[in-house]
Amino acid sequence: MGVLEGRVALITGAGSGIGKGVLQRFVEEGSRAVVVERMADRVDQLRGEFGEEVAVFHGDVSRLEDNKAAVAEAIRVFGQLDIFVGNAGIFDQFITLADFPEDKLGDAFDEQMAVNAKGILFGAKAAHEELAKTQGCMVFTASVASFNSGGGGVLYTASKHAVLGMIRQLASELAPDVRVNGVAPGGVATDLRGLETLDQHLSSHSSRPENVERVRANAPMQRALYPDDLVGSYLFLACKELSGTITGTTVLNDSGSSLRVRRPAPTT
Ligand code: NAD
Repeated sequence: MGVLEGRVALITGAGSGIGKGVLQRFVEEGSRAVVVERMADRVDQLRGEFGEEVAVFHGDVSRLEDNKAAVAEAIRVFGQLDIFVGNAGIFDQFITLADFPEDKLGDAFDEQMAVNAKGILFGAKAAHEELAKTQGCMVFTASVASFNSGGGGVLYTASKHAVLGMIRQLASELAPDVRVNGVAPGGVATDLRGLETLDQHLSSHSSRPENVERVRANAPMQRALYPDDLVGSYLFLACKELSGTITGTTVLNDSGSSLRVRRPAPTT
């Protein structure tokens, strides 16, 4: 019997990458799930891959009504909601403020925040009452960019700092009924897309072989990260039998890349 037997999860951005890995593992562990995915071809693929244990909702996390409809779908199809994984995201591909076209800065900020930050806020708003009924939990996808510079450009870094703030504030507000935690990945080889405002949305920085190799070579653990390396962290935080007294915490899973490394001693 899996550790999530009898649970129902809502997972956003589960059509690819980390979210898809989490979905697969949660189902293996006995959970049923509703997923929210924006890209139509990924929605079709998910519907073909999973059976009745997964309900696929074609929607956009930056719209409150889509989050509410996905929660309603979980209740209609499965009768309860135990876990909300706020994961859908987009990436600014490290663009610096100096390089930013001035006429796109405002729209790019709005687009970045709408998905990475507002998407989680709306999901939490839509889900918290149902989660309270089951003494459930939320797990948000943060990032190394939630803690420091260098994990993205200024927009992505700001959006992931916002996610960290929401984890802490909502953990405090929703206790003792709902736990709220996060997972902060380092660079993961996925199809993470860029911003449409900057015409980056058809390409992924994270999946380029040279970038995967750079992440591996620079990490103290000397390991590139793939979605399967992250799923255990989500499972741990989602399972109340494993982490029932943990709230407001974010698990850094980055192959050690955030560590300060020992620099060679100066030669005299
Ligand atoms: P991914 O692109 O493989 O998966 C993200 C999924 O979210 C995609 O299927 C995409 O279509 C979907 N999505 C995007 N915007 C959406 C929206 N508005 N509504 C619904 N679905 C939407 O990328 P991933 O790397 O697995 O990203 C998942 C999360 O992990 C993101 O929040 C990302 O910021 C975070 N993250 C990724 C990395 C990395 O290096 N890949 C590192 C740290 C954090």
